[in-house]
Amino acid sequence: MMTMSIDHSETADYIYQQIYQKIKAAVLDRSLPPHTKVPSKRELADTLNVSVNSVNSAYQQLLAEGYLYAIERRGFFVEEIATFYYEEKPAGSALPDDLKEQEPDKSGWISFSHMSVDAAHFPLKSWFRCEQKAAARSFHTLGELVHPQGLYEVRETISRLISLTRGVKSRPEQIVIGAGTQMLIQLLTELLPKDALYAMEEPGYMRMYQLLKSLGKQTATIHLDEKGMSMTEIDICQPDVLITTPSHQFPSGVIMPVSRRIQLLNWAAERKNRYIIEDDYDSEFKYDADTIPALQSLDRFQNVIYMGTFSKSLLPGLRISYMVLPPELLRVFKRRTYDLHTCNTLAQLALKEFIDSGEYQKHIKKMKQHYKDIRERLISALEEAFGKTIILKGANAGLHFVTEFDCTRSEKDILARASAEQLDLFAMSRFRLKTGGVSEKPKLILGFARLKQDDIEEGVTRLYRAVFGA
Ligand SMILES: *Cc1c(COP(=O)(O)O)cnc(C)c1O
Repeated sequence: MMTMSIDHSETADYIYQQIYQKIKAAVLDRSLPPHTKVPSKRELADTLNVSVNSVNSAYQQLLAEGYLYAIERRGFFVEEIATFYYEEKPAGSALPDDLKEQEPDKSGWISFSHMSVDAAHFPLKSWFRCEQKAAARSFHTLGELVHPQGLYEVRETISRLISLTRGVKSRPEQIVIGAGTQMLIQLLTELLPKDALYAMEEPGYMRMYQLLKSLGKQTATIHLDEKGMSMTEIDICQPDVLITTPSHQFPSGVIMPVSRRIQLLNWAAERKNRYIIEDDYDSEFKYDADTIPALQSLDRFQNVIYMGTFSKSLLPGLRISYMVLPPELLRVFKRRTYDLHTCNTLAQLALKEFIDSGEYQKHIKKMKQHYKDIRERLISALEEAFGKTIILKGANAGLHFVTEFDCTRSEKDILARASAEQLDLFAMSRFRLKTGGVSEKPKLILGFARLKQDDIEEGVTRLYRAVFGA
């Protein structure tokens, strides 16, 4: 007969849980051997002085999990359970130390990261208002898995927006919404021929390069000339898919002139199954003149796959990006036999509301002015501190630019010193995809979307010490 004591104090677990735990432990350590009959519910309830209900709940749970079995009119018995081969490890040691995470403490750091924005400028209140409105209006939609390309009405809104702001020609049917550009690129590689040769800009977006490499895709690199990807190298390389950032080359900041855009489109039209992936990541921000329409807007043969994101214009934490598939690839997409639903429906609905109500354009207008100011102040502070020893490039658009320093210190050395100065920043070496090598003069990528007005001076002082300090 089982002996167990029940703790009736207020802080104790529910009674049925105590009974459940004790019988379970006894079954596992075999103090209740297989096929032993356990007391009837009433018997046990009487012995323990608890309600039959409590015992019943415990038995039902043990039955459901397979610790007990029942035979009609005879009662409950202990199941024959395989024993574990291995000894249990002491609790807490389950995750090796090298896999444990520790949130780095970045208080006091100043960020020149090109991947982040300052969330303090995001109109959180109006976003929440949009979310609330959208949720009320489309409440039942949240109870379902929506279309794998994203809600049609949201795609309609995006299609209208990019036609207006980027000149991108699309139907909502062609848009695929996903949780980030990387995700969408991964998906896209499944639609393009398996053995396609991809070619990226050199220097370029390392995350994308690493993704393609780890997907097992052949990936070549094409150097830049003063207009962008070198046509001579493209002719030699003979890729099938070109990946480019024409609005603001990442990371050099070069804006691709229309002549090179047309050359690229002609290249794509020359042969079947050639595509251009246009990564249009920060095109909303242009400082000396109007924004330049997307490459896709000039495309007459539907060879351009347009990629857009709200990571730079709104927040990277929203994880809302999208691509526009040419009809041929859309057909391949629709033939797939599996679906991934990667973008949060509530976020999609809120975004639609945010755009349709005019809040989006209002935010962009405000941020354009803010980035214009902060960029100007950063540039003057840099010029004042570094004088003739600094050259700025690619600062006409986007949220970062490149700085080259007239000094002998290596990029690696500067980065180490910057880290000691608590500066978050990247050097050009990170974006040399294939060559890895070093340039004669050290180059840094300075992003200013995360930078606070009040940190500019201190940031530049620290940077000066990192570059020229003892
Ligand atoms: C920020 C950025 C993106 C957007 O990335 P998401 O995954 O959509 O957040 C794409 N390309 C480049 C070069 C970027 O800097």
